[in-house]
Amino acid sequence: MPLPPSLVEHLQDAVDAIAGWMAEYGPYDPHPVTAVDAAALRAVHAELARRLRHNYPFFHPRYAGQMLKPPHPAAVVGYLTAMLVNPNNHALDGGPATAVMEREVVAAVAGMVGFDRHLGHLTSSGTIANLEALFVAREAHPGKGVAYSTDAHYTHGRMCQLIGVRGDAVAADAAGRMDLDALEQLLRTGSVGTVVLTTGTTGLGAVDPVDSALPLCVRYGARVHVDAAYGGFFRLIADDTADGVAAAPFEAVAACDSVVIDPHKHGLQPYGCGAVLFRDPDVARHYLHESPYTYYTDDLEAGGHLGEISLECSRSGAAAAALWLTLQLVPLTSDGLGAVLRPCRRAALSWATALANSDELAPYQRPDLDIVTYLPRRERLSQVDRVSGHVLNAGMALPPDEAVFVATYEVTAQALAARGHRVVADVDRGRILRSVLMKPESETVLPVLQTRLEALSRSAG
Ligand SMILES: *Cc1c(COP(=O)(O)O)cnc(C)c1O
Repeated sequence: MPLPPSLVEHLQDAVDAIAGWMAEYGPYDPHPVTAVDAAALRAVHAELARRLRHNYPFFHPRYAGQMLKPPHPAAVVGYLTAMLVNPNNHALDGGPATAVMEREVVAAVAGMVGFDRHLGHLTSSGTIANLEALFVAREAHPGKGVAYSTDAHYTHGRMCQLIGVRGDAVAADAAGRMDLDALEQLLRTGSVGTVVLTTGTTGLGAVDPVDSALPLCVRYGARVHVDAAYGGFFRLIADDTADGVAAAPFEAVAACDSVVIDPHKHGLQPYGCGAVLFRDPDVARHYLHESPYTYYTDDLEAGGHLGEISLECSRSGAAAAALWLTLQLVPLTSDGLGAVLRPCRRAALSWATALANSDELAPYQRPDLDIVTYLPRRERLSQVDRVSGHVLNAGMALPPDEAVFVATYEVTAQALAARGHRVVADVDRGRILRSVLMKPESETVLPVLQTRLEALSRSAG
């Protein structure tokens, strides 16, 4: 979103608010070694600004590539205000105010998910949040493995390696969702303690059928962890409406054991904000540890001491403040953050339809969320790969006010065939194109995107 003209005023408010608080403690002399030479700072800051130009324009609707966009202005103001204090949400004495805000936002996320009771906290990222969930999964089912779909985030396989548990990849179906027959076959072996379901895969945005997988997992005594790092907030528009998403898989998350949601993806936050939530607060026992330099005062029912229920230690209190402030303005409701998600969803649906009618590009599959995958219509997979690569690079090389930015996604010849694409498999795998339409402005730019991408694809031959 463009920088609002009022942002400077709000940033001034942030500085004034914290300066006023500091003044209450009386004057003191800052040490000269930290004094700022304004001219020198201005000069190096100009250099910083120059270097930051070397970025893709994540803010612009014609950036339709990876999962990237700037934070909401309220998140910027909230982050900066708290950062001037620099609280550490590891411990209550490190960030008393922001720890309370963290509990409030985590409770709001738990409410959105539908957990009656919960234990949870923010994390630095979805990766760490998933690590915590798998760590608890291992402690809850010692000696048993973890199953995830072949389309799940690669972090699950790697984290299994890290925590020393066996990880099994379960086949995905032709929609990129976990194949439940393959899952049941694996569950029958009795070796699986936890199943990871993904509501919004990173590549395709495919939503695993949580509603039908959950009873299966329960029957075999397996825990269910939901990786909703990307898709979690789509719960707000999971209402089976024309510009919403399927309700059943998201509603079923309420009965799963744990869930990970990244506010720094669809929650309008700057990086450094993931979240993990457990339905059973008693899992806190797995985190028990002693520390001589932090004091843990709270009872767990009240939400727990954040340092006592997380694997990370120092963590930005400003991230909690940023999310807290954002949610005061854009609450976790259908009309709040849901209203930001609906145009993204509409963009994905209408673009998939437009692509189906294009004679140059074809949709790879129907989007479950707001991620669209598509490919140049070519005879051979090697051509699809080459043209996709050309569209990626030539699109970025156009003059800035015309450039289009997309991403690529590697698929196998079998995955293409499973989706009905008749492409000669002269190579095993190749790149297709992928656009994460996570900005509400995406909807307005689709005709331009499509015309330009078609032209680029044609020009590749
Ligand atoms: C992004 C993502 C992750 C990793 O989260 P980070 O915040 O990038 O560490 C894990 N799982 C899914 C489904 C994701 O989309």
